[in-house]
Amino acid sequence: MSISDRSARGERPSGKATGRVFQRVLGRELPVAVRAEGATIWDAAGRAYLDAAGGAIVVNVGHGRQSIVDAMERQARAFTYVHGTTFTTEPLEAYARAVSRYLPVDDPVIYPVSGGSEAIESALKMVRSYHLARREPDRTVVIARWGSYHGNSLGALDLSGREPLRRPYEPWLGRFQHVSAAYPYRAGEAAAHALGDVDQLVAELESAIAEAGQGRVAAFVAEPIVGATLGAVSPPDGYWPAIAAVCRRHGVLLVADEVMTGFGRTGRWFGLDHWGVRADVLTAAKGAAGGYFPLGLAVASGNVYDTITAGGGFVHGFTYSHSPVGAAVAGEVLRILETENLVEASATKGERLLNLLRDRLDDHPNVGEVRGRGLLVGVEVVADRTTRRPFPRAARLIENVLSRARDAGLLLYHGTGNADGTNGDTVLLGPPFVVTDAELVSIADRLGEAIDRATAAVSA
Ligand code: PLP
Repeated sequence: MSISDRSARGERPSGKATGRVFQRVLGRELPVAVRAEGATIWDAAGRAYLDAAGGAIVVNVGHGRQSIVDAMERQARAFTYVHGTTFTTEPLEAYARAVSRYLPVDDPVIYPVSGGSEAIESALKMVRSYHLARREPDRTVVIARWGSYHGNSLGALDLSGREPLRRPYEPWLGRFQHVSAAYPYRAGEAAAHALGDVDQLVAELESAIAEAGQGRVAAFVAEPIVGATLGAVSPPDGYWPAIAAVCRRHGVLLVADEVMTGFGRTGRWFGLDHWGVRADVLTAAKGAAGGYFPLGLAVASGNVYDTITAGGGFVHGFTYSHSPVGAAVAGEVLRILETENLVEASATKGERLLNLLRDRLDDHPNVGEVRGRGLLVGVEVVADRTTRRPFPRAARLIENVLSRARDAGLLLYHGTGNADGTNGDTVLLGPPFVVTDAELVSIADRLGEAIDRATAAVSA
């Protein structure tokens, strides 16, 4: 019996797919999710999964929060949609005021959209509009970094330095420039486009700006701590203050992509807070609404906003931007983060998870590095920890780790290509901040077991 026959008869789905959904993964049958609470998801067959990645590092306040559903319902009962060119709304104005005190942006002004890629596209257009307003139309060059991810829409993908995702679409890409990733573990490896020394990283950005020519560079875009592409990689400590100073000196806007690192994920409200740096433009998404609503934010500093406003305005917009329901949800997520001290919880539980993983994996012959901040934690898996040689992509090592973990009821996030654009395997962990200590222990145990088995199988 098909899933639609069953639902027509009011039955619970059996876990069989209809074949009518173009799924995110092809060629593998997916279980049907039916319920979620805290850090656990249940499928239609009654299996429980420990959500150690919060989906795609999204779920921060935990699954199944009644107060968020209530906030959503209250707003939806009043009205769900009015067009952003015609109305503003009370939940949106209230949220913008409330979130502004946490954003590492001076005098911030928010432009809410439907996700991270839209936030990045909006940020790029803000940058362009700012320079046009200042009568600097030749500032068209945008510099990003290798080993980064900024989204899958074509502009955001072009900005991304994530080669496996770029490759099929390369004929449509090429507008933006890339400098080295700040990736200490692979510092000096040309194939990884990685440096680990602040002076070298700063000098490289300086020379990219000089090569582009006086008054040509519009913005530098980077993740404060690299998430999906490299697996929770922090730059060396002096990096962000020095990079911000270079940008300021050359009239280049600093765009911080905090889609993954924002809203407490790294144990501070925002990733840049670890270094006390302020951005001119910032993007956020995932944790902003914690998985309860598709929401992203493009944030302009007061200066950027005022300049654009005075200089002729902002030609942009999406049908579903400025959602009042999204704002109501995000307002409640923010209230929960504040009142339950969940940003501090992310810091302390992240430290605990790092220690558990290091105890379990530090001597493992196939674990190159365990790293991260707060509840954004990465494990780089290698064929040889002395030389840092990765497993060949054809071995599909990381898929093997993930499927073994899934069989054991543990959900993970992953990346590939970090070592040289093709090879390289990373596991990314990002459980909800309400994860319990017993669950942290279980994550470390089950991940250790999955890595043991997968590396043994692949090496055999
Ligand atoms: N920027 C960063 C740093 C991300 O991690 C992601 C998604 O993983 C994006 C942008 C794109 O966000 P979305 O998938 O919501 O479009």
